[in-house]
Amino acid sequence: MNFLEERILKDGIVKEGNVLKVDSFLNHQMDIDLFNQIGEEFKKRFEGKKIDKILTIEASGIGIACIVAQHFHVPVVFAKKAKSINLEGEMYVAEVESFTHKTKNQVIVAQKFLNEGEHVLLIDDFLANGCALQGLIQLVNQAGAEVEGIGIVIEKGFQTGGRVIRNMGYQLESLAIVESMDSEKNEIHFREQ
Ligand code: 5GP
Repeated sequence: MNFLEERILKDGIVKEGNVLKVDSFLNHQMDIDLFNQIGEEFKKRFEGKKIDKILTIEASGIGIACIVAQHFHVPVVFAKKAKSINLEGEMYVAEVESFTHKTKNQVIVAQKFLNEGEHVLLIDDFLANGCALQGLIQLVNQAGAEVEGIGIVIEKGFQTGGRVIRNMGYQLESLAIVESMDSEKNEIHFREQ
């Protein structure tokens, strides 16, 4: 079991509706020493890849992406969530359905911060059905940039996102993959990697 899986078992809480709560260390209160270990691990897994920029999505991806970026020495851009806008010309826009809130949002990035030919590493806290990642991939494609890799802290392997994204041919690295979880017993099982 790796450092992150151990922490999830210690502090994660399984909620009804396939939601794993990790807000005591990952996405509300944040354990920065843990984030640094996460950054080191992504650096290893993407060794030898050319990374110009990290792209994430607000809000919970931002803190993680910033610490990860210290290991890659590149800037972080975060896609902003907007209700419904019409900002032609200045923004790349993609549609994303939120797993946790069950709402549809547009995600936007200013065109000046994603450039043609750039090699982009996508970072996010969770992968469930993959909607957030698909939105980020669309933004990168619109810019004519390239997704060089995808780093996820916790993948819920029993949902479809991981399979879909891997089938698209991307190098997707998830530091913990939850195979199953039980909210009544607060039990979590990880996929062997
Ligand atoms: P997806 O778009 O892959 O369905 O969901 C990914 C997004 O939903 C992540 O950015 C994350 O913020 C949120 N999310 C999905 N599942 C969970 C979960 O079990 N717990 C928490 N805390 N957030 C989740």
